[in-house]
Amino acid sequence: MNENVNNQPNTASALQPEQILEDLKEGNKRFLDGRSIHSGESSLKKLKEFAATGQFPKAIVLCCSDSRAPVEIVFDQDIGDLFVIRVAGNVVAPSLVGSVEFAASTYGTSVVLVMGHSRCGAVQATLDHIEHTLAIPSENIHDLIARIKPHIFPIAQIKELSYDEKWRRSVDANVLASVSQLSTSSRLIEDLVLHGKITILGAVLDLNTGYVRFLDQ
Ligand SMILES: [Zn+2]
Repeated sequence: MNENVNNQPNTASALQPEQILEDLKEGNKRFLDGRSIHSGESSLKKLKEFAATGQFPKAIVLCCSDSRAPVEIVFDQDIGDLFVIRVAGNVVAPSLVGSVEFAASTYGTSVVLVMGHSRCGAVQATLDHIEHTLAIPSENIHDLIARIKPHIFPIAQIKELSYDEKWRRSVDANVLASVSQLSTSSRLIEDLVLHGKITILGAVLDLNTGYVRFLDQ
């Protein structure tokens, strides 16, 4: 057994994973209804409190860097609520796995959510690369696309699908692939999953509506 699992400090939220997910869903509903409750004044107060006490994030979120997908806003969460890791295409790579490991083992955070979004540019760039063999302008962008490509390649091959349908399905497939990869990405995370200390799941934000659809449902 990994000793990091045994040595986890007891700093986790008292909420069970199901309650944390319900809290995120309720926050998304408030956002959709225009009833967000987190004001600038209370957030500043919390920031000052957490500066003194440290953080106790209730969930870890790996999501795309897209400026239209701000996690805290769409879930109506406040400072200190979410440990957010953002990378174009919500891909799984070593430093991002390390970030999840850090938060899960340091704060005992029990929920890891991979959140993609509709009309994702990183997924679109990968789809276009597959369909048209477009040149990729840098090795670093190539690394991102190479991580997404295997997960969406079969979808790109389905000739009867429209481009938009391929794009939509590819976003879902890419999120589910990141969930799967993350679950087996390291000994530490495998042990946390095995012992029921973290739950990893996926969701997709619809940019047209603001609704976050959880992929386990
Ligand atoms: Zn994106």
